[in-house]
Amino acid sequence: MAPDAAEIVDVETGIESMPLFAPIANREAQVMKMRAARMHGYREPLRIEEVPVPEPGPDEILLKVAAAGMCRSDYQLLDGYFKGPFPVEFPYMPGHEIAGRVAGLGSAVPATVTYAEGDMVVVNPSWGDCTCRQCREGNEQLCSGNGRWVGFGPPGGFAEYMAVEYRHAIRVSADAAKAPELLAPMTDAGMTPYRGMRKLRDAGKLGPARTVAVTGIGGLGSYAVQYAKLLGGSATVVALARTDSKLDVAKDNGADHGVNVKDKSTEVIQDELERLTGRRTIDAILDCVGSQASISMGFDLLGPEGALAAVGLMSDRVEHRQFPFVGTELSYLGSFWGNHLDLVEVLSLAEAGLVEHNVTEVQLEDINENLEALGRGDVVGRQVIVFE
Ligand SMILES: [Zn+2]
Repeated sequence: MAPDAAEIVDVETGIESMPLFAPIANREAQVMKMRAARMHGYREPLRIEEVPVPEPGPDEILLKVAAAGMCRSDYQLLDGYFKGPFPVEFPYMPGHEIAGRVAGLGSAVPATVTYAEGDMVVVNPSWGDCTCRQCREGNEQLCSGNGRWVGFGPPGGFAEYMAVEYRHAIRVSADAAKAPELLAPMTDAGMTPYRGMRKLRDAGKLGPARTVAVTGIGGLGSYAVQYAKLLGGSATVVALARTDSKLDVAKDNGADHGVNVKDKSTEVIQDELERLTGRRTIDAILDCVGSQASISMGFDLLGPEGALAAVGLMSDRVEHRQFPFVGTELSYLGSFWGNHLDLVEVLSLAEAGLVEHNVTEVQLEDINENLEALGRGDVVGRQVIVFE
C-alpha cells in the first residue's frame, strides 16, 4: 500500500516533498520504491536500500531492470581506480551492463520510437554529448566533450529501475527478450572484446597461417576467443590464461589451443606454442587483462609486425621495451568499450546463435561477495544479477 502523502521524504535530502503541488503522475512515481545497491564511499561494501524509483526526464524511458551484469570494473570503481576520470557522488548506484523492460516513457520521447510497455531493451552504456568529433564519428564511448558512462556517473543498473535517454536503448526481438541474463553482458563483456578484435582485423593482422591469441579468459576473454574465430579469417586461436579451468572454457568456446602461462618464462611458453601451432610467435593478441605482466608477455610473444590490442585495465601504468617495439614494427592498439554499432553487431551475432555465453545468475543481495570474487579474479564467465 502506498504511504500517506505526508510521509513522503526524499531519501537523499531528508526533505519532505510537497505532493499537493506535484502532478498526479509524479506523485505516484514518488511513492514507488525499489531495491538498489548503492555505494556510500570507496572501499566500503555496497548497501542494499529501498530508494525512490527514478522519474524519467522528458527524453528518457523508465526501465524495469531485468538483468545487470557484474564486471571487474565495478570492483575497481569501488576500489577507487576510476576516482580521477569518473568521480561519483555518494550515495551512488553502479552497474553498467543492463537489459530491462520499458516501464514508462518521458513526455518528449518521439512517437517514432514506438516503444511499448514491456519491450525489452539493452542499454548502450556510453552516453556521449553528440556534439564532439568522436560522437559525430559514432564513437560516443570516446566522447571528448561532456560524455557520461552509465554506472560510472549516471546511476546504473544495480537497482530494480533506472532511467535512460531513449536514444541509448536498443530494442531486441521477443525471442532474445526471453533471456535478459544473456543480453546484459553483451553491453560490455560481449562488446568490448569485439571492438578490440575488430581493430586487429582492420589492421590486417588476422587471416590464414596466422595465430591470434587472447590473454585472460574472464568475462571478456570467453567472448574474445569466439570473435577470434568469427572475425579471424581462419587464423589459429590460442587462449593464454593462468588457470586450467579458464582454458577449458576458452576451448569450449572455440579456441584451438590453450596455454597455461602461470609462472612460465617466455621461452617455455614459446616451446609450448611451437608444439601446438608449429610457430614460436603470435601475430595478434587481444589482451583482456591489462597488467604489466600480461602486456610484457604479449610483446615478448609477438612476431615481427605483430599487433597487441589492449582492452584490460588491471594496472595503472605499464612499460614495454622500446627497441623490439620499433625494431620489429609492432603495433599497440588501445580499444575502449564499443560504440552503438558494435553493440548492434554483437547482438546480431548473439541472435543468430553464433555466440556462446558463460553466465551465472546471481541475486542482488549477494552483490558484495560477488564483487570480492571479481576482485580476486575468481569468476569464470559472467555473473549477472537477475531481477525477474
Ligand atoms: Zn561527444
